[in-house]
Amino acid sequence: MKGQNVNSSAPATPKGSDFIRDIINDDLEAQRHSQVITRFPPEPNGFLHIGHAKSICLNFGLAVEYKERLGKSRCHLRFDDTDPAKEDTLFEEGIQEDVRWLGFEWDGLYHASDYFEKMYEYAEHLITAGKAYVCSLSDAETKEYRGTVTTPGKNSPYRDRSVEENLDLFRKMREGQFKDGEHVLRAKIDMAAANMKMRDPMLYRIRHTAHHMTGDKWCIYPMYDYAHPISDAIEGITHSICTLEFENNRELYDWVVDNLIDYAKFPSRPKQYEFARLNLNYTVMSKRRLLELVEGKHVSGWDDPRLPTIAGMRRRGITAEAIRNFCSMVGVAKANSTVDMAQLEFSIRDDLNQKAPRVMAVLKPLKVVIENYPEGKVEELDASYWPHDVPKEGSRPVPFSREIFIEQDDFMLEPPKDFYRLGPGKEVRLRYAYCITCTDVIKDEAGNVVELRCTYDPETLGANPVGRKVKGTIHWVDAAQSQEAEVRLYDRLLSLEAPPVGKDSEFLKAINPEALVTIKGARVERSLGESKPGERFQFERQGYFVADIKDSKPGNLVFNRIVTLKDSWARSQKK
Ligand code: ATP
Ligand code: MG
Repeated sequence: MKGQNVNSSAPATPKGSDFIRDIINDDLEAQRHSQVITRFPPEPNGFLHIGHAKSICLNFGLAVEYKERLGKSRCHLRFDDTDPAKEDTLFEEGIQEDVRWLGFEWDGLYHASDYFEKMYEYAEHLITAGKAYVCSLSDAETKEYRGTVTTPGKNSPYRDRSVEENLDLFRKMREGQFKDGEHVLRAKIDMAAANMKMRDPMLYRIRHTAHHMTGDKWCIYPMYDYAHPISDAIEGITHSICTLEFENNRELYDWVVDNLIDYAKFPSRPKQYEFARLNLNYTVMSKRRLLELVEGKHVSGWDDPRLPTIAGMRRRGITAEAIRNFCSMVGVAKANSTVDMAQLEFSIRDDLNQKAPRVMAVLKPLKVVIENYPEGKVEELDASYWPHDVPKEGSRPVPFSREIFIEQDDFMLEPPKDFYRLGPGKEVRLRYAYCITCTDVIKDEAGNVVELRCTYDPETLGANPVGRKVKGTIHWVDAAQSQEAEVRLYDRLLSLEAPPVGKDSEFLKAINPEALVTIKGARVERSLGESKPGERFQFERQGYFVADIKDSKPGNLVFNRIVTLKDSWARSQKK
């Protein structure tokens, strides 16, 4: 590719263009790069969430797109493992599973810790060049010396240590001769810099903590702002894409690369670009809050379907494709904003509409005895899996007999005029079956309706009743041949659009108590007895559901509601 005009055969702008792609196209045109190398750099201290999915779709998506166009391009998965205290191999495994599940494969798996030795060597180089020094101020003093946004900082009294003294102290730091916090290594930049990040930032600190990759080899660890640009540069990253809160770190990123590139002979001069992070209403996304929910047992684990974690959404039954479509719909912008949860729900429905066969399930069963239907008779009625507007074929037989279940909500003792379902004396159509009329209502001692007596019109199978109009159609299941199931109705995690401000745990008060409603004793049609964990369905008139990947098995069916059919949320909030 070298020397070749990489742009000559490529389309002017790839589809879905945004400011990042514009920058890349400019770079390619100016021959600053002949391929695109990106990376996704999670810290292995938690599970990924939908915000990370946006970053994954962008970084991996770019590599896929430009590989198609240029014949080469890569995206690395790099664990940013510079803080040994919070990181764990378990999280690394979870992250890899999530990236793959989202549909991406990395062109190389790396760790920042792969480069600890190099980073150390480069730090000695900076010391030798007079660009870094060992500082022995306490944390509190360091803070005081830093100044504020409006006032410049003061030079540390240790700033003018000689190169020899600095090297000696730094080596002893590495050897473990000091306690945590006794010394740090700082860049020597400018204590009066307008950008506070440039006021002699810390490069290394002492942490006598074992690391999940390097064990006890190190007791000094590099800071993110030092480790990140070096890792990028070593890997030949061309475009280092991160979220907007790192805007002020860019100057330091450049300082690190510029001061090392001649010495280290990096294969590329990476540049950092910032895009708007994804924020969603009615949920929380920061790892700290997710951790609080998990550790405080407010949810069942990292894969609780109420959480916006990838693992949670996967268990909820949301498809990877719906998430990818959502990320592409949200796009890549330069200004922060909050995306409405309804938009994610739209993507989920849009995807499942084409994928989820329609079946019948009764969540809160009410028994119906059809008195004029012969006892012992069973008809197998043909029920299509797909509505007319989905271009797919297939059906299954559903059994129909004298006793069936309908939804409790589809019956009212004193129905208002526009209730086109069942009431005393009223007639309704059973989906795929006959019209029935309610002739009698049986109540228990407390006055609750426990059973309906009905008659059916044998002329109404696949035909309109003669001489009258029946407006409503309801779903049902056969009493004898349906299967019992547990149904978990999931809804939004928070009942407020944004968690309350204030002390961090305040957000726990905003947890929607109805984010999970468990129904035992639901009845699902016979065909669902065979459903495999992870299989998705539309329960007619109820929503999209999935057989739970952990708990559902034949004989113990468990279904999770992925999403309702319509936005009932907005309506109930208005009420
Ligand atoms: P959190 O802020 O939720 O605690 P994090 O930034 O600490 O997450 P990292 O593991 O450091 O998590 O993130 C890995 C990558 O994912 C980073 O490049 C980060 O910018 C990106 N990322 C994190 N959250 C979001 C988000 N909400 N939207 C888009 N990208 C994100
Ligand atoms: Mg981070």
